[in-house]
Amino acid sequence: MSGAAGKEPRILVCFGTRPEAIKMFPVVHALRNRGGMDVRVAVTAQHRDLLDQVLEIGEIVPDVDLDLMRAGQTLDELSARILTSFGKVLDDLQPDRVLVHGDTLTTMMVTLSSYFRKIPVGHVEAGLRSGNIYSPWPEEVNRKVAGSVSDLHFAPTQGAADALLAENVPSSAIYVTGNTVIDALFATRAKVEANPELASGLDEVAVRFADKGLIAVTAHRRENFGEGMQAIADAIATLANRQDVAVIFPVHPNPNVRPVMEATMGGLGNVALLEPLDYPHFVRLMAMADLLLTDSGGVQEEGPSFGKPVLVMRDTTERPEGIEAGTAKLVGTDRDLIVREATRLLDDAQAYEAMARAHNPYGDGKASARIADAVAEAHGVA
Ligand code: UDP
Repeated sequence: MSGAAGKEPRILVCFGTRPEAIKMFPVVHALRNRGGMDVRVAVTAQHRDLLDQVLEIGEIVPDVDLDLMRAGQTLDELSARILTSFGKVLDDLQPDRVLVHGDTLTTMMVTLSSYFRKIPVGHVEAGLRSGNIYSPWPEEVNRKVAGSVSDLHFAPTQGAADALLAENVPSSAIYVTGNTVIDALFATRAKVEANPELASGLDEVAVRFADKGLIAVTAHRRENFGEGMQAIADAIATLANRQDVAVIFPVHPNPNVRPVMEATMGGLGNVALLEPLDYPHFVRLMAMADLLLTDSGGVQEEGPSFGKPVLVMRDTTERPEGIEAGTAKLVGTDRDLIVREATRLLDDAQAYEAMARAHNPYGDGKASARIADAVAEAHGVA
């Protein structure tokens, strides 16, 4: 499976959203460090501003930027646009392999586009399954489609590898690598330690909330839009009524999220509703916080590295390892349950200590190097 005679195999790494960019920038660097491959990057820019923040800190200059984000576009419109635009990129670049990540519409449509041209696909963060095609929606099906086409599956954990084996993926095609988010986290933490200026934008709010129990919040999941978001907002507002608690919440720009949070919490003195933070600032926020309240996939994986309890505002998770290790807990979008569990962690030192153990079920920071080695091997690169 090497490239055209005498040429280095061309590997095209594709992504489009903030979490994909965070988890793929270390892979791009590892492939380039490995050598012997012509590594290119194409972005759909399914998220525009959030993606650009990561490209900058991740030091990635895309070879192709399709700039496909449009306000209010439907899943059909975005899918169609990715499929037709991406086909041209593949025809133009003629890669020997495409690498996709995770479970976005970019992942699924780039995979299909590659399949139509019989270009092999490697799937990073393969094998995550909730078992429910409507939660997370549409991610569960996005990643199943990617999994059914890929010939190299980079599973972050043994559990993810087991899910692939149960779907009859041959074990020779599965690599248990760890999750590349831990590589990104370690690299960014080191950058911030070497240059604190990179994350100094939180200094003011950190001083203001210094003597309080600090809750860091993120919320953006599509299946929580509507009642779920309102319940999350009400729960946080209730928690922030306490004088000894403060909340820092970088609010996702999605129109189903921001207006709800601003209407419910805009005037509360103990709540800082911020613009989305770039990755170095968000890493600093996770380090500062006592407790993480989130519906994000990535934050569930990052939280345990900091030894911070994570309350997961979802009914199911495809990341059971944190729950099994006791560092994360599912609380759904039940207002009272969120308030009760967060209050317990804030007030009961024993309950807090039981969850606040630094633990890395998701990786050791070397996932990208393992992926680069496997790709090189698949293409006969010495
Ligand atoms: N993140 C960030 N800034 C923020 C909020 C989150 O850089 O203001 C990072 C976070 O550290 C994690 C990723 O974004 O790595 C998660 O993205 P998101 O929650 O949008 O998506 P998911 O992980 O649920 O797919």
